[in-house]
Amino acid sequence: MIAQMTPEIKMKTSIMKRKDRIASDFNLETLYAAATSKDTPVFAISGAAIRRQFREIKKYLPTVNPHFAIKSLPQSEVIETLRQENAYFDLASIGEIELVKSVGIAPEHCIFTHPFKTKSQIEQAIDFGIKTFVIDSESELKKMEAYKDKVQLFIRLSFPNEEAKCDLSSKFGIAPKKALYLVLLAKNLGLKVIGTSFHVGSQTTNSEPFIKALEFCKKFYHQVKKYDIEFTTLNIGGGFPTQYDDQGFDLDEYFDPIHQFLTQHFSQYEVISEPGRFISAPAGLLICKVIGKNHRNDKLCYYLNDGVYGIQSGRIFEKADYPIFTPADIENDIEQLYPCTLYGPTCDCVDKIGDDIYLPELALDDLLVMSDIGAYSIASSTNFNFLGKVHINFQA
Ligand code: PLP
Repeated sequence: MIAQMTPEIKMKTSIMKRKDRIASDFNLETLYAAATSKDTPVFAISGAAIRRQFREIKKYLPTVNPHFAIKSLPQSEVIETLRQENAYFDLASIGEIELVKSVGIAPEHCIFTHPFKTKSQIEQAIDFGIKTFVIDSESELKKMEAYKDKVQLFIRLSFPNEEAKCDLSSKFGIAPKKALYLVLLAKNLGLKVIGTSFHVGSQTTNSEPFIKALEFCKKFYHQVKKYDIEFTTLNIGGGFPTQYDDQGFDLDEYFDPIHQFLTQHFSQYEVISEPGRFISAPAGLLICKVIGKNHRNDKLCYYLNDGVYGIQSGRIFEKADYPIFTPADIENDIEQLYPCTLYGPTCDCVDKIGDDIYLPELALDDLLVMSDIGAYSIASSTNFNFLGKVHINFQA
């Protein structure tokens, strides 16, 4: 007989999986003290987690040079931590260029991957020393013509992925069957195309979308040779998942087919990637506080000092469901849990964290911890309602 997953067992499983990692990545006592003393939440970033995740992705894909997608967690301490790992960076705006510049990142370690750029963005990126850009349209290709002696290009391909939480191919990338046209047009314009790039979409927990994309690229890299075009590089983008819920997926099983494919078919090429979430998600921890308690329609409701307009913005934009614990859950055995609704602090009804979340009974000023919240969280948080700035605590 299969044991029923009670909320208590679910919570216990979720904590057991994360407990040691959270305790070793963060100084929890300091964070609880800071969160208790403030009206606004505390967002902690672990340098140790950033380093570990960066090393992990290099371990899983040893032939691939990861370029951290800084949009996922654009904090200077994070960039500095990765600079010390000799990392490379994927940038998509002038603000991101300014950020890496301020940390002393070499331009040779940066690529600019936004498929659409203003003239001034292109020129500022070139002035900084960036050479590698991404395009997916004829109009962008023509824009790059003026800089043909200074740039090299990836053609971004679209591989729609209905399973993905965010299907970036619904917005960017040229249909694979039209890609040859762009490559030949680039050649006619005297522009150098070094290869293709793509993004398989975020949070797919199996490698099939990658293999499908790589199968096409394998054929395409052969096809262009007939036109005297020699690609040198393949950019496999981001999209490597993070485990928010407890459905469970095995990272060896996820990465192995990608690694095998690349070693079999792309060993003669330079291969790069653009991981964001995989590196930044586990490095973020939110400590927020109960600021209100009520019963509405017979449901227990808590109002927290952070919500979807704040650090939890990824609940909306990224459909991310961050694990939630109390400090006592992390320390001790799980107490009895009760279903509740959690709301954020703003005046908007959209600012709801979720229904039927199982937690122990909470009192005003009690703390709640949300883990694996480093990616696309503070990056897309807003200042709605002017509730005050989150306190950022970087722990090296
Ligand atoms: N590369 C590009 C071009 C992107 O647009 C993104 C995310 O938006 C990433 C990489 C990072 O993706 P992920 O965080 O899923 O790894």
